[in-house]
Amino acid sequence: MRIYCTTCGSKGRISSREELTKAFVKLYCQCLDAKCGHTWVANLTFSHTLRPSAQQLDVLLFDRLRDLPPAQQRELFDQLGKQAVA
Ligand SMILES: [Zn+2]
Repeated sequence: MRIYCTTCGSKGRISSREELTKAFVKLYCQCLDAKCGHTWVANLTFSHTLRPSAQQLDVLLFDRLRDLPPAQQRELFDQLGKQAVA
């Protein structure tokens, strides 16, 4: 991850990170320009999902199927079986 000094614009580096949650990390940064020497904290946060995780899809699908009446579950599985054979 490229990071730049917020004061002079030179390249900076992340010296350490503090993971408060999986979606919020504090990055401790320092400017690589010796004449500047600025150190600062930047926040890295989760914004939003573009495509859900395949693992989440499996869980969602299973939950939906489990909530269906048994007759409707059988109907769906019968249709899936026919498509797999065709
Ligand atoms: Zn700097």
